[in-house]
Amino acid sequence: MRLMIDFGSLAPIRLEAMGRSLAEITHVAVSHIHADHIGGLEELAFLSHFVHNRKVVLLTPPGLRHLLWEHSLRGGLEMVADENGEPVHCELETYFHVHEMEHGWQQVGTLSVLPFRTDHVPGKDSWGFVVRDEESGGQMIFGCDTRVCHPELMEDPISEDFERGPIFHDCRLSGGGASTIHVPLSEIRYPAQVQERIVLVHYGDNLRLHQDAIREAGLRVAHPDEIIKLPEWRARLRG
Ligand SMILES: [Zn+2]
Repeated sequence: MRLMIDFGSLAPIRLEAMGRSLAEITHVAVSHIHADHIGGLEELAFLSHFVHNRKVVLLTPPGLRHLLWEHSLRGGLEMVADENGEPVHCELETYFHVHEMEHGWQQVGTLSVLPFRTDHVPGKDSWGFVVRDEESGGQMIFGCDTRVCHPELMEDPISEDFERGPIFHDCRLSGGGASTIHVPLSEIRYPAQVQERIVLVHYGDNLRLHQDAIREAGLRVAHPDEIIKLPEWRARLRG
């Protein structure tokens, strides 16, 4: 089982750069319908359907399936042609095994997954995920695009069976102003036991200019091709 959280426009390119194949992906969980999170799904759908003859499991948080199809993917995926050139009408289920998630913890293949709402663009449905691997005891929180991680989640009494794993946290390095859409580095301040678990993602292309500030905040970043192995993740981070 290989779960991707989101599948943005650059996902096929990044996977190839890491020597991985689209055919390895078995599950994709979708956080929200911005192109940098779902822009690669059309390619994944067509390749899976027409080349690999298989379906990836598409995990949609409560209510997001409708938005994903009607407001985004339908435009590219609805119509195809059969071998005679005749039009064929398709649905999201033509390409994917759609798993509409419920609220709360649920089993997804060999993993346990908890979707949680995030505070991203006002009025826009956005989600993050907590993922546990029962076998290894590894756990991570992936906040996707969010101003702040869910306060209750950040303080939750996570089972002692699981190491308190990394929290992959959205971060905006450039520009001032309020904490809207993406959270500025200056506002990523949590209690020490939470702060030390945070790994910054979505930070833009000017990382070099902000490395001192990141270090001073007690934070670290995830690099685009970095492999962070759970549960022994701290020792393996590049910093
Ligand atoms: Zn977004």
